[in-house]
Amino acid sequence: MTRPLYHQDSAALSFTASVQAVSASEVALDATAFYPAGGGQSADHGLLRWDGGEAGVVDTRKDKATGLIWHKLDGTPPAVGTPITGEVDAARRWRHMARHSGEHLLAQCFVRINPAFAVDAVNMTHPECTLDLRGDPTETDVRAAETLLRETLARQTLTLDTPTVSEAELADYPLRRETKVRGQVRLVIFRGENDQSFDVSACGGTHVPQASLAAPVVILRAERIRGGVTRVVFMAGEEAGEYLGGIYRDSRALAQTFSVPPDRLTERVEALRADLADSKAEATQLREKLGRVLVEATPPDIQGLRWLELDDPALLLPVLSGVPTGEVRVALSEGGRCGIASARPEVHAGELLRAALAVTGGKGGGRPELAQGSTLEPGGFLAAVRAALTSTQTC
Ligand SMILES: [Zn+2]
Repeated sequence: MTRPLYHQDSAALSFTASVQAVSASEVALDATAFYPAGGGQSADHGLLRWDGGEAGVVDTRKDKATGLIWHKLDGTPPAVGTPITGEVDAARRWRHMARHSGEHLLAQCFVRINPAFAVDAVNMTHPECTLDLRGDPTETDVRAAETLLRETLARQTLTLDTPTVSEAELADYPLRRETKVRGQVRLVIFRGENDQSFDVSACGGTHVPQASLAAPVVILRAERIRGGVTRVVFMAGEEAGEYLGGIYRDSRALAQTFSVPPDRLTERVEALRADLADSKAEATQLREKLGRVLVEATPPDIQGLRWLELDDPALLLPVLSGVPTGEVRVALSEGGRCGIASARPEVHAGELLRAALAVTGGKGGGRPELAQGSTLEPGGFLAAVRAALTSTQTC
């Protein structure tokens, strides 16, 4: 069995120990400050040093059957019995402790808003941590819990206390969530100056020694994931501050391009969206107007056919609309986009277009009144339509 030093003092990241067992690239130690993955918290990484060698620890896991904690090394492991010094990657561990503490504290705030908001599952293996809650918290509840935690972390000193108690003693503690652990139970308590506990959980993970070290705890979003379960996505500690600072800098840079302060960015973007919608509507009207002008400037031929060659594909639909009875209109634009509109019962626009495209290559089709497509051979399209129309009328 490996003595878990991280249970005594989660901030002590350097230690000495000796190698108990070696298996391939893994070593088990008699004691370790390396936290093995578990309880929604990722494994510690770091470094082991010994006389004449060192190796990086790239993963840590606990063998539940033997109680041994195995350290996966990126180099040749030392022999059994070798004294080592271990150094846990501090930046990684502090991020994990802030996430894990943030999870306990935030879950407690939700329960204080409404006891129905019980934890279903948690995950702290990514910077965006998740807290799955029952009881359907609303957006107002979510903001209330976040505010309660922000005020608590800013105004109270909550200190970590991690007693191990017997199952029988558990009844003396206001556990936030029932535990399945039997026998000796390790408790994680954040306690205020008046000795009153703010949150009590049964947990084997690592946590910050003072709750405020997990600040800021920021809820990014909450979403319903399945019946009766809401996933609250949050960030905690340094990485939350770093992330939000980055978001602010990006927002400010964007806001500067619009000559507004960052807090007026939403308002500015909404105004731009309205302007864009107006401009699109105006452009549509102008294209319709231009389409009518182009149609008027192109008289129908003797068979009542109007042939239009366009330089803008966006004009295709405007020139193919409002066709008067007895007329067939054929349009071709740059790039080979083409269309046919028919107000003559014996001419099926879709079939005519397909017949022409069978000759020139391309794809398209449509209804009896309107058909669109694109031709691979724009130079021969109009002649192909004319030939297809002649053969239809001959039959
Ligand atoms: Zn915990």
